[in-house]
Amino acid sequence: MPELPEVETTRRGIEPWLVGRQIERLIVREWRLRWRVPRNLPARIRGATIRSVGRRAKYLLLTTDAGTLIWHLGMSGSLRVLDANLPPLFHDHVDLVLDSGRCLRFNDPRRFGSLLFTTGPAERHHLLSQLAVEPLSDEFKADDLWRRARGRKASIKAFIMDSRMVVGVGNIYASEALFRAGIRPGLAAGRVSRSRMAALVAAIREVLSEAIDVGGTTLRDYVDPAGMPGYFGRRLFVYERRGKPCRRCGTPIRQFTQGQRSTYWCPNCQR
Ligand SMILES: [Zn+2]
Repeated sequence: MPELPEVETTRRGIEPWLVGRQIERLIVREWRLRWRVPRNLPARIRGATIRSVGRRAKYLLLTTDAGTLIWHLGMSGSLRVLDANLPPLFHDHVDLVLDSGRCLRFNDPRRFGSLLFTTGPAERHHLLSQLAVEPLSDEFKADDLWRRARGRKASIKAFIMDSRMVVGVGNIYASEALFRAGIRPGLAAGRVSRSRMAALVAAIREVLSEAIDVGGTTLRDYVDPAGMPGYFGRRLFVYERRGKPCRRCGTPIRQFTQGQRSTYWCPNCQR
């Protein structure tokens, strides 16, 4: 599933191809995504110029002078900039055709992605208005998180993956950040000390930033039909490393299931 770093990598990859370009047309081959693509969308954005490519949580925001496209990659979606004449593949559901002769093509085998539109401020759209703080923004503060964790019995891992606390910390990055901060994933959120919460916030920022940097090395793949976004795999300390020696201390990495998701941790490094 694309997590926040993959979405940010996508944003950075497509941005230079889109900003300042006029939309010649929107081709929708499959309207039934997670939510139905608005029927009138192709007519509404035809001829509009793209002003910016932003991101809020895992939503990409393509702001045009007609309104903002709110694009979500869902479980399996990807966006790439291609020659508009390149024939679509089976799961290529949407093309945003630009006046440059290129198109932004959306591929999504599982169709959990979505493409919606708003003419108002995007941050007030119902999908975005309730979202918590961005993990890479200055508003993501350890003291705030620590205060909100008081008395909470839910695990610290579930707590940092809760999008009411902070957005965009998915399973991989939650596991990795807890390892770096030396915190056992099953520990109750309310039992994490103020100083360890500070270490955790720093670790979350660090793993997300590093993953974005790694993705950034493969940005040119976005103009190559064979290309896919970069991946963070080689830098993972615990995720999907069950039974393998901890990269720090050599203890075998353990795995358990927590809220239907796999959690990986080192019993020696994380207490
Ligand atoms: Zn270890």
